Amino acid sequence: MVRHGAAPKPVPLPDNPAAELLAWYDRHRRRLPWRAEPGVLPNPYAVWLSEIMLQQTTVAAVQKYFSAFMTRWPTIADLADAAVDEVMKEWAGLGYYARARNLHACAKAVASKRGGRFPQTEDALLALPGIGPYTAAAIAAIAFGQRAVVIDGNVERVVARLAGIDTPLAQAKPAIRAFAEELTPRRQAGDFAQAMMDLGATVCTPQRPACALCPLREHCRAFALGQQERFPVKGIKPERPLRIGNIFVLRTAEKVLVRTRAPRGLLGGMTEFPSSKWRNAGASQAKESDFSVAAHWRRLPGRVEHVFTHFALRLTVYTAETPSAVAPAGMRFVAIADLRREGLPSLMLKVAAHAGLLEAPRQTRRGAFK
Ligand code: SF4
Repeated sequence: MVRHGAAPKPVPLPDNPAAELLAWYDRHRRRLPWRAEPGVLPNPYAVWLSEIMLQQTTVAAVQKYFSAFMTRWPTIADLADAAVDEVMKEWAGLGYYARARNLHACAKAVASKRGGRFPQTEDALLALPGIGPYTAAAIAAIAFGQRAVVIDGNVERVVARLAGIDTPLAQAKPAIRAFAEELTPRRQAGDFAQAMMDLGATVCTPQRPACALCPLREHCRAFALGQQERFPVKGIKPERPLRIGNIFVLRTAEKVLVRTRAPRGLLGGMTEFPSSKWRNAGASQAKESDFSVAAHWRRLPGRVEHVFTHFALRLTVYTAETPSAVAPAGMRFVAIADLRREGLPSLMLKVAAHAGLLEAPRQTRRGAFK
């Protein structure tokens, strides 16, 4: 990171909530490994990497992965040169694996077409793999100080409360954006974005916000109404459908059978134990499984449950032992002792634990806020 000279800070306007928030941020900002200290220019590579990792994932879960990536691939050129399989393995456990694949594609694009430098505008950032509107705005504001309106889940909550927006969140997004747009200052947009995120994560929390500590209390409609937790107004959530299936753990004394999923789609390119197709619960029993190996299969008691964004999954686990480690076509036996190095996704770590191959994984998926 590069130190720059003392940049003059804008004079706060009276009655300007942004200025009050920025003053609060000077004193209460979270220290995070990807965040530049005051007076230090941000590292766009670190900002980008952290923003991709933080999508759908908690700050606590991301810190370990961020450090591992920065240690192993300290620059975007290093990451671009890495084999995609290695990137996927390092990402294993963080979930939403398309992010890792896009991360690598983006590193390659920036390294090969842009001389290793990220573009600075939202439009140009949006053209890169894996960068959507939120991430483009966050990188433009935080890494390059551009005036961009950055709205994540924390910011939505803070703005909905400040403005007392009375419509359900799904329909309230344009109003939230318009209010956030008005609030965002011309200068220090990056600090402002991070201040809003920090306020949402540490003060304006989903339950029991600490309004007594809030620098925006005087401007807050929800606080004035005494109805902070009513905002943002929640719509009715459609129920997540349930899919079910069978999964097969075939092992020798030291090895276990695995295969690699197709490169695209859910858990794309990740290692898995072979399984039947996952079908909607209630649908008629599939006649054929996409996995069939003759063995003395034993059904394990209990089930493995996992929640994906659009459906919940319940798997029944079968195990069997085989004297020979000859794998069916498209599969392979790997040493159980090396299983962690395979970069199993969380679901497969749960299956491995259920079958007694590994210890149960720790939860990494994020809850409602970063
Ligand atoms: S006053 Fe309370 S509800 Fe309003 S923004 Fe601050 S913490 Fe959130």
